[in-house]
Amino acid sequence: MNTFQDLGLNDDLLRAITDMGFETPSEVQDKSIPLLLESEIDLVALAQTGTGKTAAFGFPMLQKIDIDSRTTQGLILSPTRELCLQITNELKAYGKYCKGLNVVAIYGGSSIQDQAREVKRGAQIIVATPGRMKDMISRNMVDISKIQYSVLDEADEMLNMGFYEDITDILSHTPKDKNTWLFSATMPKEVANIAKKFMHSPTEITVGNKNEGSSQVSHEYYLVNSRDRYQALKRLSDANPDIFSVIFCRTKRDTQKVAEQLIEDGYNAGALHGDLSQNQRDLVMKSFRNKQIQMLVATDVAARGIDVDDITHVINYQLPDEIETYTHRSGRTGRAGKTGVSMVIVSKSEVRKIKSIERIIKKDFIKKDIPNGIEICEVQLMSLANKIHNTEINPEIDKYLESINTMFEDTSKEELIQKFFSVEFTRFFNYYQKSKNLNVAESAGSTREHVSNDNAARFFINVGSRDGYDWMKLKDFLKEILELGRDDVFKVDVKESFSFFNTEKEIAPKVLEFFTDFKHNGRFVNVEETENKGGGGRDRNRGRGGRRSGGGGGRDRRESSGGFRGDRRSKSGGDGNRSERRRSSSNSDFKSEKRGESASSSSSRPRRSRR
Ligand code: ADP
Ligand code: MG
Repeated sequence: MNTFQDLGLNDDLLRAITDMGFETPSEVQDKSIPLLLESEIDLVALAQTGTGKTAAFGFPMLQKIDIDSRTTQGLILSPTRELCLQITNELKAYGKYCKGLNVVAIYGGSSIQDQAREVKRGAQIIVATPGRMKDMISRNMVDISKIQYSVLDEADEMLNMGFYEDITDILSHTPKDKNTWLFSATMPKEVANIAKKFMHSPTEITVGNKNEGSSQVSHEYYLVNSRDRYQALKRLSDANPDIFSVIFCRTKRDTQKVAEQLIEDGYNAGALHGDLSQNQRDLVMKSFRNKQIQMLVATDVAARGIDVDDITHVINYQLPDEIETYTHRSGRTGRAGKTGVSMVIVSKSEVRKIKSIERIIKKDFIKKDIPNGIEICEVQLMSLANKIHNTEINPEIDKYLESINTMFEDTSKEELIQKFFSVEFTRFFNYYQKSKNLNVAESAGSTREHVSNDNAARFFINVGSRDGYDWMKLKDFLKEILELGRDDVFKVDVKESFSFFNTEKEIAPKVLEFFTDFKHNGRFVNVEETENKGGGGRDRNRGRGGRRSGGGGGRDRRESSGGFRGDRRSKSGGDGNRSERRRSSSNSDFKSEKRGESASSSSSRPRRSRR
């Protein structure tokens, strides 16, 4: 592995690198920096977001330009104002020991005169969004006729956003013999076209696989009626108690609405889109980073530049117009060696788009069912049980034990457990007991039909994504240790700290026996059979007594009138009017969605904030 010294950077830059705490170059830096320093070439570099591309072009540019001159020598085009500012700040930090360096950001929504004045003072490097740049060129406010190095950053995204014309126009004002460095996460044909048109036999480097979704990400889709989209979103969240997610909507308006609705329904959610002020956006991002927000609802544009590593789920509330955008979205999860899930909620009219996406990402989607109410209750209950099991005892509690013990003197351990868990379980149960099946059958002839559940046994296992498993890895692991055939383990559903899977009923005793005393990586793996069969909204628990987690599940599944009503304050009930009032003031399709599961009733919000 190279160090920054090995790459050939000068002392001023190395000092700044030390100050910034960068220890070793990232792969894209390791590959591009020496190349760009040593030769005058055009470069196409493909690397995912968060791989350190800014420094990959920033360091060589800072080292190669003549800082003693005030001529503009470097031009960096980037899709959004956020990225523009981010890059400018990074470059200023990298160049803090380069005396006389002047990097200027040019973007819309801010005074063009001020920006022109800053450029006039002598900017060696301009970082710009294409729209504003073109504007300033046409008004003679900038001179880019002496540019030596131009960078197209996030080229795929700029083209997605319709900047093709602007970019061609801008580049036509630059010298022919400059070098162009193009950075992109993906290589759709539009980007290839730009490369062909404006670059001279560019050197190509790729970090990871080009045009592929990250291999750490599994892709799932859920087929529902359009009007049930929002309910589906809530269930997906409830079925994943430790979710930390970005939810993508197509428009700013939908983004705002979905976020508002989630907040009203008691989720830790926030909105991120272009109609918010910079200050508002910063606040939202701060809350998201420190996980006060578990569900960040965002537009594609605003979500560019989100560099948060441990996002567990990306949810496509609506599919993007451009299929390429899907890659950007799903690339938000499965970062830094972690596993992630990209979920798509689709209606029948869009389901064929899944096929096109599969072709582009070269990966198959798994069709999954929106979990039914009982499954969600079970997940929530097991999540709580697991949390309690792993909780370290706080010694401070001893002080209070005496009075608590007195209170429960006559309560058996069994009864105590039942009562304790009912506190949490009842909230979910009341909400979900009559919930309807949200799944829509795929049209006849589909190859994605489900394995029938009638003869299946379902198991809980206390390993999950935190242990490095996704559904495929867990399935392989189980098949291997249990010596089972290819299709003997199915409906594998991985949560953060535990999972579920199905086998045929006949195999169940074997599974249970195998896991009675099984240790993996030094820890006991606990497997238990559960009541529910995992999947679909069919009435599976009818007539079964036994375990409490499924108890009472055999009622009619009518459309629920119980609701996810109210916010945190409503735990004690009694503020039904608030959501009524809000409902009448909100318009559009969300109204009708609310009439489903979230119309008001006496049940309380089954959602808890993260501890
Ligand atoms: P990209 O443009 O590929 O999405 P960025 O250039 O924005 O990625 O870098 C992502 C983050 O990683 C930034 O906060 C940056 O300061 C940091 N970073 C870049 N290179 C390194 C490095 N070699 N070591 C540590 N952190 C780095
Ligand atoms: Mg970048």
